Formats: sequence, structure tokens, C-alpha cells
Amino acid sequence: MTNQKGGDRKMSSCNYSAPCPKCGESMDMYTESRPYDTASGQCLYCGFYFYPKEDRLTLAEVNEARTDGDLKPLKELKAWED
Ligand SMILES: [Zn+2]
Repeated sequence: MTNQKGGDRKMSSCNYSAPCPKCGESMDMYTESRPYDTASGQCLYCGFYFYPKEDRLTLAEVNEARTDGDLKPLKELKAWED
């Protein structure tokens, strides 16, 4: 990992071990707090891994969930900031 900016510490990544749910060996786990809280991990014994998935709901799916949650349906999805 390279760090061009001298005083810029990357503390958002945390590494630890946890039992693999598939084989019971110790697997490597990583948590990140940026850009949001996530966890991922990989097992170097059996090959199991997991990671966060990003996707986007369609307008219809958003409105279905909004209706369930007492929110008014949207005409269009709010734009993403980037
Ligand atoms: Zn495993």
C-alpha cells in the first residue's frame, strides 16, 4: 500500500481473524468504515469469501418499498452526487 501524503493515516481498515463458517479454520476479515460500514473476508483454507455488493434499486422497486414504509412514491430517483 502506498501513501503519498505523509500525515494521512488510513485507519478505516481493520483486520482480524474469525472462524470460517464453511470449514472452521481462521479466516481473514476486513472491516471498513468508509465510504460506509462494510465487512469482507476470505478463508485461505477452503476458499470461502464474501464482500459487500453494491447495486441500485429501480424506481419501481424503490416505490414499492416506500409504499410499504408510509412514504410517497417518487417520480424519479434522487440523483447520485458523484
Ligand atoms: Zn474456510
